Amino acid sequence: MTEDCRAARGGMLTTPKVVASSNGSVIARYHADATFRAQIDQVDILDADGMPLVFASRLFCAEPLRERVATTDFIDDACEAAVRDGLNFYFLGAKPGVAAKAAARLRKKHPGLRIVGVKHGYFSEEELDGICADILARKTDVLWLGLGSPRQEALALRLRGKLAGVAWIRVCGGLFDHMSG
Ligand code: UDP
Repeated sequence: MTEDCRAARGGMLTTPKVVASSNGSVIARYHADATFRAQIDQVDILDADGMPLVFASRLFCAEPLRERVATTDFIDDACEAAVRDGLNFYFLGAKPGVAAKAAARLRKKHPGLRIVGVKHGYFSEEELDGICADILARKTDVLWLGLGSPRQEALALRLRGKLAGVAWIRVCGGLFDHMSG
């Protein structure tokens, strides 16, 4: 993550990477919905969010997955790296007030954490350009996008073309609800 943030700041990474998670329902939708399949195929990094995927990979893959990556665990590692390396996070998603509460909790747990912007996930198409301008103005390195699947994957791919300078768009489902509760 940090390496990509440095590359994006230095102009070496001009398009954000989309990082998403797979679980049982993502895989089921992948097989049932051609549009979603095409979107998932464009994702840059796809985590395995669930031990069943790790077990299946041991049975069927020449190079099995080493571990599961749950966003709810990864967020703490990401926050530690962000504090250490001075990275900026932006939270976009969930009902009004939820991501702000999650941000407050994470700032308390990780002093020095820079969550530079927070916005709820119930915005209109007309508001999108303004939100992108805000994300860029705040020098965001990692955009955490929690709108639920499949909307978040589709939007993450669309935003790639609008957010040069951002290193990662980290799709995160219901993470803000989890962190705020
Ligand atoms: N959400 C949103 N905008 C919408 C629809 C949903 O921000 O237009 C949020 C919702 O409030 C919740 C998250 O998206 O915080 C979806 O969470 P869920 O656990 O259903 O997502 P999953 O991880 O299953 O994809």
